[in-house]
Amino acid sequence: MPKPVSICVIGSGYVGLVAAVCFAEMGHRIHCVDNDESRIKTLREGGVPIYEEHLPELLAKHLNRGVEFTCDLEAAVQKSEAVFIAVGTPQRDTGAADLSYVEAVVAEIARAISGYTVIVEKSTVPVYTNEWIRRVLHRHGVDGQSFDVVSNPEFLREGTAIGDFLHPDRIVVGAGSERAAEVMKRIYAPLTEGSYYSQPDALAGPLTASNPARLLVTSAESAEIIKHASNAFLAMKISFINAVANLAEAVDADIEDIAAGMGMDSRIGPKFLRAGLGYGGSCFPKDVAAFHWVAQQRGVAFKLLDEIRKINDSQRDIFFNKVLSAVWTLRGKRLAALGLSYKGDTDDIRESPAIDVIRKLLEAGAIVTAYDPAAMARAQAALPPSEKLHYAGDLYEAARDADAVLILTDWKEFASIDLARLNRTVRFPIVIDGRNLYKPQTMTEHGFTYVSVGRPASYHAHQGKPRSLVL
Ligand code: NAD
Repeated sequence: MPKPVSICVIGSGYVGLVAAVCFAEMGHRIHCVDNDESRIKTLREGGVPIYEEHLPELLAKHLNRGVEFTCDLEAAVQKSEAVFIAVGTPQRDTGAADLSYVEAVVAEIARAISGYTVIVEKSTVPVYTNEWIRRVLHRHGVDGQSFDVVSNPEFLREGTAIGDFLHPDRIVVGAGSERAAEVMKRIYAPLTEGSYYSQPDALAGPLTASNPARLLVTSAESAEIIKHASNAFLAMKISFINAVANLAEAVDADIEDIAAGMGMDSRIGPKFLRAGLGYGGSCFPKDVAAFHWVAQQRGVAFKLLDEIRKINDSQRDIFFNKVLSAVWTLRGKRLAALGLSYKGDTDDIRESPAIDVIRKLLEAGAIVTAYDPAAMARAQAALPPSEKLHYAGDLYEAARDADAVLILTDWKEFASIDLARLNRTVRFPIVIDGRNLYKPQTMTEHGFTYVSVGRPASYHAHQGKPRSLVL
């Protein structure tokens, strides 16, 4: 393995923690900083604050060896050749990214810098943030020779974050100086030269020693835009297929067949063509908004970005209306809500369509029993249990005596549900699926009325097809 680099990662959230542990796995020495003392305490004691595959094993492997956790930013920066900023950049009311956490961290870094340090934007930030970071450092009296600012956007997906980090499609380094680019190349050398993949205990994945990771060096501005443009493009694919799904429904076509037929075109590809409740999470909604805001600020009319958001928002209302069409009135109806996280394989509920739909159902007077394989604790903090909202220990408990079962998140556990058991558990066998997890024919064979996205609703013979679903 190449020579270890001493690295400080600021922020121990989804991105910071994964980056810290993966850099340690690549052989580097990591000081991971957070100002949340309880989080640092948990991490020091070997606790794992987020649900992410492979994270518990890698944390146990590297804790107090390759990676240490601390609240002492100054000491951590002083010991490090590169400082990665991985704090949140939430959305402001205007749509712009709130960069106050980044600015606060940069001011602290300025007080701590002792020798040449590469300061790396790992957080998703708008174009020109690198320039603002440079200015803040200058204002705090830091000499221009003692730092460089680099953009190194993160493309990991929650749920497969460790695999994505160690087997990336690409590593983007936006560096204005050769010196900084060299430090970044050294950091990623175990992946780009392939030495990591020849280790006996390396995490298996698509990359190998003979097919290692690719690293693209660009300007900092281009790297910043690559991240926003990539997320906006993926969000566009989701909104596009959802708009097509709504048309498919109106003409009795099947969006699953349509997506399969489109995805076989190598220019389009099958990924992110899943019709459903739309995207959520801490990235796509805010990144589409921030990218739109940046374009507006520069006088560029990028209306497509606003349309992507509008289509996404409307998917939740369309789903809500489907629930109404299936159960008629909502007051006092018992609904099982399967899924709380914004997508499967994560406990993250930020901007989750599931949470939004549940809120709307509660406001309309429904009684909801919710279940999620990983996001129960976070959901209960956001939507506390009440007379109207219950949390169940498993999906069958959630479905007990339900007037209808709603699928809100694409968890594998839900896709492999025991349909015969589900039918015996519910009051009425009605499934309204916001994630298209089942085949309509299978559902009717199991006695369900089944309503999904972009496909004709199917009715069990005994229940008969209503004359119109429109209220
Ligand atoms: P997060 O909210 O999970 O974590 C941010 C962490 O930073 C928190 O633990 C917080 O306590 C800490 N923090 C805030 N201010 C601090 C300070 N002054 N000093 C030390 N620590 C501080 O956020 P996240 O999901 O990890 O996202 C971080 C950034 O990465 C965002 O810009 C996001 O858009 C981007 N990103 C996220 C993902 C993702 O899937 N979550 C993927 C790619 C990029």
